[in-house]
Amino acid sequence: MLQNWAGNHTYGASRVRHPRSVEELRDLVGSATRVRALGTRHAFTDLADTTGDLVSTQELGQDIEVDAERRVVRVSGGVSYGVLAEQLARGGWALATMASLPHISVAGAIATGTHGSGDATGSLAAAVAGLEIVGADGALRVVSRGEPDFDGSVVSLGALGVVTHVILDLEPTYEVRQDLYADLPWDVAVEHLDELTSTAYSVSLFTDWVSGGIKQVWLKSRDGVPPADLWGAAPAVETLHMLAGADVEAVTQQGGITGAWHERLPHFRLEFTPSRGEELQSEYLVPRTEARVAVERLRALAPSYAHLLQVGEIRTIAADRLWLSGAYDRDVVGFHFTWVRDVPAVYAVLPAIEEALLPLGGRPHWGKCFAAETAALAPLYKRFEDFRDLAVRVDPQGKFRNDFLARCLELD
Ligand SMILES: Cc1cc2nc3c(=O)[nH]c(=O)nc-3n(C[C@H](O)[C@H](O)[C@H](O)COP(=O)(O)OP(=O)(O)OC[C@H]3O[C@@H](n4cnc5c(N)ncnc54)[C@H](O)[C@@H]3O)c2cc1C
Repeated sequence: MLQNWAGNHTYGASRVRHPRSVEELRDLVGSATRVRALGTRHAFTDLADTTGDLVSTQELGQDIEVDAERRVVRVSGGVSYGVLAEQLARGGWALATMASLPHISVAGAIATGTHGSGDATGSLAAAVAGLEIVGADGALRVVSRGEPDFDGSVVSLGALGVVTHVILDLEPTYEVRQDLYADLPWDVAVEHLDELTSTAYSVSLFTDWVSGGIKQVWLKSRDGVPPADLWGAAPAVETLHMLAGADVEAVTQQGGITGAWHERLPHFRLEFTPSRGEELQSEYLVPRTEARVAVERLRALAPSYAHLLQVGEIRTIAADRLWLSGAYDRDVVGFHFTWVRDVPAVYAVLPAIEEALLPLGGRPHWGKCFAAETAALAPLYKRFEDFRDLAVRVDPQGKFRNDFLARCLELD
């Protein structure tokens, strides 16, 4: 039985199909009753599932075509960011950001608003300049930035069709160094939160929420050197994993050694193959203006959830215009939770966390575990109804709909 990466969801689809060409995919989608795209299976829920056929994008080609003049790359949707990044770097090109894990597919990542960290850096989806999508009728359509449907079509939750190719913005290659610090007390971290997240191109703060404060600060600096003094936090003298006791072989080079962007921006190395994950994840994207209140609320709640937590991570993401993006219309701070893999226990603590964060405007990460359903989600997105209208227009028979879309968008 096919399961997601974390092993907490067994896909209920009747079959998994592996089209080898766009033509084969068009026939398959055009003649299907129910069908959904499957990427690298890193989502933590039934998001990708269907009662019909799952369509894996893994054999649909590995195109990576750079257009140097337009500074874009056209990439097959099933290619992982890690593979894409290596090829781009070899050719002297770069992406603005990477998620913590490079193994995730391009189309699957952008469909859920996946992001890295950086005050001035948008999500992976924000770099999308165009999409090639096989729609419900089996026709291939191209949607480009600036066109009326574009802002609704990137973070699509797989509801608009199967993305065959993605056009991504590029920039010339650059170098990054990664420096870690340990132990920043909460009062200092909260007082200097905005300064802290602006000390480097990409900043991640790791905490267990119950002990004194931020346990590790990961600074990924693109220009210049990190500050000599980080409000008294101790510079790390050895390589650290964000999970106590975990194998440091898995993490990207630290210790201030400069290297290529794609070998520092992800937390984990591409050559380290993550086994089936013994974890679940949740994340809430809260407006930056509410960050301090969110921290206070999560600290107050921590005794109720800390026993399930492997680690918490705080990151920042710049605003974009994509309708279902966690960062739609505002800069956000992401409060991420890596949980132990205990599904009932984790889902039992999520409602209290959501009661604390959703009223602040916190939006759950679409690819991770959350409890909220349509009534709670709709007010968080100004263009929620527009997305629903778009989904109904491009997929009137509901070919791409599933339980997740029924539960979270009342699309059934
Ligand atoms: C270890 C780990 C680390 C992670 N790190 C981060 C992180 O740093 N930042 C972050 O924001 N998230 C992170 N995530 C979450 C992850 O990025 C999302 O769950 C993402 O959607 C996974 O992509 P996938 O290709 O595995 O998608 P899948 O799980 O296969 O599918 C997810 C959704 O994408 C759709 N989809 C996939 N391919 C296509 C396609 N070709 N066309 C249309 N729709 C498609 C599916 O239908 C489904 O709706 C992490 C997850 C794991 C397991």
